[in-house]
Amino acid sequence: MKAIRIHEPGDIAVLRYEDVDVPEPGYGQVRVRLRAAGVNHRDVWVRRGNFGAFPEPIIPGSDGAGEVDAIGPGVTQWSVGQKVVINPAVSCGVCVACLRGDQPACRSFRIFDGTYAEYAVVAQENLVAMPGGLTFAEAASIGIPYVTAEDFLVRAQALPGQSILVWGATGGLGLATLQLAKLRGLKVVAVTRSANRSEKLRQYGADEVLVYTTGDDISDAVMSLTQGRGLDIVVDSLGRETFVQSISSVTRGGVIVTVGTTTGGQVSFDVGRIFRHRVTVLGAFMGSAAILPRLLPLFSRGILVPVIDNSFPLEQADQAHDKMENHGVFGKLILTM
Ligand SMILES: [Zn+2]
Repeated sequence: MKAIRIHEPGDIAVLRYEDVDVPEPGYGQVRVRLRAAGVNHRDVWVRRGNFGAFPEPIIPGSDGAGEVDAIGPGVTQWSVGQKVVINPAVSCGVCVACLRGDQPACRSFRIFDGTYAEYAVVAQENLVAMPGGLTFAEAASIGIPYVTAEDFLVRAQALPGQSILVWGATGGLGLATLQLAKLRGLKVVAVTRSANRSEKLRQYGADEVLVYTTGDDISDAVMSLTQGRGLDIVVDSLGRETFVQSISSVTRGGVIVTVGTTTGGQVSFDVGRIFRHRVTVLGAFMGSAAILPRLLPLFSRGILVPVIDNSFPLEQADQAHDKMENHGVFGKLILTM
């Protein structure tokens, strides 16, 4: 089969389009003929080696959709030909965290890599039936961003009438957060680097749009939008460049969700404001395995809308990474195979 493999960490040139043996499903495993893979920031971090070097070449990519192609012994839930979405959260399934449905807290938790390929083998519990009314590309665009956003909105106890600020609102996670927050009845302040995406953000439900340039401080704008009160929830995926502003933009008793460090992870700030203002700092990384099967039907019913910026054939994975890193996106980038 054709697959993108990484042999050593590096820039987009390390994404090699290669011939690889088709994997065989073992006990309890299913082989999926992938038709689309969603590109996530995670894939870029994997490529750069942020999660470690590669003892052997790896196929990146966590989100994907396709058809069941073969089943291993012991598979009870799936049959050949069914359309499926990969739920890329892998955990032990038997510890206290797993049993209470908080798989990312499992000590064996990891995120599956391997959807930049024509075939992938996953455990049967890592598949969800693909609902009707969605294309493979749309189905592959949902997993990590929507599961992550839904999980932190639940844990932040987001309530109707509250306000939320979303940094990087035009990315996959940003638009997922925007849509899920609107569905909960929150007022959404979306932050973007490009003024010409403001109108589109409003079409997807943003109540306010702030345009941000590196070096700006948006906290004054936030305070004037909120009559000096600040926002109930601030979702920060940028880290170093924005985290201090997130602290000064959140209201007393509010929640800062830290869900990425795309501008770096080292931050210096006054911890005094966190305790005096009773701020909760909530770390977010994927979410409960129960979320994806619950959310997928909302897409077929048009309550949530997949937002796809662009699709690339698998062999152009390097161009998709280049676009994500250097050119900005509105929604998801998809690879097709
Ligand atoms: Zn576990």
